[in-house]
Amino acid sequence: MRFRTSSAARTLLVTASFALVLAAPAAFAKPMLFPPLPNGRQETREEFDVAPYLSAWKAARLAHERATAQPATLNQQQYDAHWYDLNLTFTQAGSQVAGTVRMKASVVSGPISVVELNFYANMVMDAATSAGGATTWSRVGNLLTLNLDRAYATGELVDVTLTYHGNPTAAGYFVFQTVNGRPLIWSLSEAYGARSWWPCKDIPEDKADSVDIHFTTASTQTVASNGRFVSRVPSGGTATTHWHEGYPIATYLVSIAAYPYTVTDDWYRPTPTDSMLIRFYNYPESAAGAAPVQAKVKNMMAAFATRFGEYPFITEKYGHAQFQYGGGMEHQTITGLGTFNESVVAHELAHQWWGDLVTCRDFHHIWLNEGFASYGEALWWEATAGVAAYKADLNASRYTGPGTVWVPDETDESRIFDGNLSYNKGSWVLHMLRHVLGDAAFFASLQQYHTTWGYQSAVTEDFRDVCESVSGRDLDAFFQQWIYGEFFPVYRPTWAAVAAGGGGWDVTLQLEQTQSGQLFHMPVDVTLTTAAGETTFVIHDSLATQTFVLHVNDAPTLLEIDKDDWILKSVETTVSNPTFERGVLLVNGVDWATYGTEITSAYTDHAFSGPYTVDFWDAFATPAGGYPAALPAPLGHGEVPPDVLGHYRNVIWVGNNFGGDLAAWQETPVLSYLRVGGNLLLMTRQGESFLDDSLRTYLGINWTNTGATLFDCLATRPGLANVTTLGSQTLCAVFDTVRTTPESELLFRVSSGFSPTRGIGAVRVPAGGGTFRPSGARLAFLSGRPYRWNHTQLQNDVSAILANWFLEPVNPTAVGDAPIARGLALSPARPNPSSGATTLGFALPRAEHARLTLLDVTGRRVRTLVDGAFEAGEHVASWDGRDERGGRAPAGLYWARLEAGGESAVRRLVRIR
Ligand SMILES: [Zn+2]
Repeated sequence: MRFRTSSAARTLLVTASFALVLAAPAAFAKPMLFPPLPNGRQETREEFDVAPYLSAWKAARLAHERATAQPATLNQQQYDAHWYDLNLTFTQAGSQVAGTVRMKASVVSGPISVVELNFYANMVMDAATSAGGATTWSRVGNLLTLNLDRAYATGELVDVTLTYHGNPTAAGYFVFQTVNGRPLIWSLSEAYGARSWWPCKDIPEDKADSVDIHFTTASTQTVASNGRFVSRVPSGGTATTHWHEGYPIATYLVSIAAYPYTVTDDWYRPTPTDSMLIRFYNYPESAAGAAPVQAKVKNMMAAFATRFGEYPFITEKYGHAQFQYGGGMEHQTITGLGTFNESVVAHELAHQWWGDLVTCRDFHHIWLNEGFASYGEALWWEATAGVAAYKADLNASRYTGPGTVWVPDETDESRIFDGNLSYNKGSWVLHMLRHVLGDAAFFASLQQYHTTWGYQSAVTEDFRDVCESVSGRDLDAFFQQWIYGEFFPVYRPTWAAVAAGGGGWDVTLQLEQTQSGQLFHMPVDVTLTTAAGETTFVIHDSLATQTFVLHVNDAPTLLEIDKDDWILKSVETTVSNPTFERGVLLVNGVDWATYGTEITSAYTDHAFSGPYTVDFWDAFATPAGGYPAALPAPLGHGEVPPDVLGHYRNVIWVGNNFGGDLAAWQETPVLSYLRVGGNLLLMTRQGESFLDDSLRTYLGINWTNTGATLFDCLATRPGLANVTTLGSQTLCAVFDTVRTTPESELLFRVSSGFSPTRGIGAVRVPAGGGTFRPSGARLAFLSGRPYRWNHTQLQNDVSAILANWFLEPVNPTAVGDAPIARGLALSPARPNPSSGATTLGFALPRAEHARLTLLDVTGRRVRTLVDGAFEAGEHVASWDGRDERGGRAPAGLYWARLEAGGESAVRRLVRIR
């Protein structure tokens, strides 16, 4: 196995392109009942969703013969099989196979005096010849060693014949049975099964150049097999059918299906004047049902030929042979089928190129067969029903779990035929590669892969090298991460727009990859919506945190990451481009109908907002009697959209977890709001449902009890007052008074009922704060039913939290405790944006130590501009655009942070080139 690690340095490249316009999604997927799985379970699944079904059948098949898997022996590596001639008679009574197999092979590394063949031990050897003369053999397990008549040198041709008989059903997957009262014979030899019924060098990478097949069966049976039909000669109660496969073929693709079939012909026309036979062999009972989908096969062949190159066995035929197997098997030129689902038919046809024409060299790279065939399904849906159907098919194949597409263990059949990895994720690798390369280079690569590796076997690196040579692109990282790496990128986009100096708007996008494990190097479509429409940029993203500057002519209102789903990924909903120009958003999460009097009186008393002027959002619908007069009209209902959050410096959320408010909370990007610097006060019962692990960790607490009953609320910090309960405080969560981060403070504890005492209120004031507003990102929590705390006492404490911990300006006359005096000011940078020097004015309310620092969008300090003692009054600082070490700071978004006397102020500035 060859591995190459990524070495390419990626350069930032931002190019404009137009968004792919998609048809509206349509309901293509029709649920259908699939035939029973190998374990007997029968499932209804969407028509597209065939991978779990196909893979289960193949895994079961391979498990059947797992013990006999055997790599090529040293002797087998010394010769190259060219031609097999199978002359076999199949007798239903006793399930017998009898006859001869002749092999011609050339010596590639001589001399050799024996040839080793794979052949199951239960089959009885009757005679053998070498160069026409009788010879001897020996057998160890399932390996047969045939003595040649002499030593053969490199380049010489070996010609041996083996005569044998036996019942092959004992070990492999060769079946004699009765179906609908008639005798059926069929084989399925992937991967090590050929040796169960005929002796051969059963190694997929050594394809025979051609195979002649003479199968004698009862004359009532029609024999379907590989390649071109040559003749059928009846003799008494039997008939001998001769097929000739003139193209290279792997041993596991040599097959027989014999039955009194109903035979139907169709024609594929590669050009207006050429035609090739398509022949379907169906049970008489099934022929009519299979006909509609079989009628599509000629169009499928045409569709694939335009994408993959011409049908690889164009001088022979294509066909189906119905057999008793739940899935399908891509026997060369004659697919075995147990179901006639359109996706399955397309999948098996695609295998004629990917699996038969180019065969994976070993099972580590089975995705080159199964992932490609699964992608063929999507391409067929695209050809027949359009891009929306293509996307719908791929959507049914999304797999985001663990494991690599590359198969680590070649002996684990369920891992080899893993529907999620080898089939579904394998098909997504091609889907993603298509967008990375563009349609022209992608399909040209598939056709070159056909040309370069056709009639041979290949591994992932062979395919990668073809794609690289066709496209001129370095694809090491792409294949490394998607074939040998696990999972997928989780993108967290955060963006801000500023009017650009030269006109238009500069959008600074910070794109984080938040998954654990590997980082992905991918070109990512970024679509910006402005009043003028959409513009799609392609950014080349490869780092945990990477910043891009995009330019549009109009103010952007929406930024979307890979909106057309070209990447297997997830995108976090984030608060972006926050302006924080407004003070407080109050969100109601208490059901008006159930808690009418209690909640209405709390709002009337301003219990949750004190003297602050607030805007209002309601998780519920407008109450029957209208809103209390104390509340302004709501801005909206349900979850709070990220763009609404971005206007507010502070959010007060009154929760309850009853009647649906929890869902509104969970669908609001709360964590993202904190990360960009928005302050949040949550008051609710059942706090454990609201503060999930990430938010609880952010707050720095650990729950000790949930579903608890609270008594009075005791303040633990100066400026806060105790709050008495108005009623039953049930279903509440309490936490350990020891916080998990020094940035968190205990604000309240419960008055009684717990020993040791428990916390019910806390706040975190991060030193660095959030990303876009480093002074912000404060999270406070007060446990308890918000409407059952004493209204006056609660409003005083809410005011104190907003004033003293959230630093939100408040009207001092309306608050019991005097807030911290303010007067610190930082004026906007001028010029801004700038490419050279820029100045920042600041004012101090008194003589004190002040520090003015510049931070990048990740919160890292870039430069300290001011750090020392200053008189009260106005001062000016300037920045020359350089970092601490004198290097030029890159273009992008920065924050200037002024800190003095325990207060801070922040301004945003943008550097341009
Ligand atoms: Zn398949």
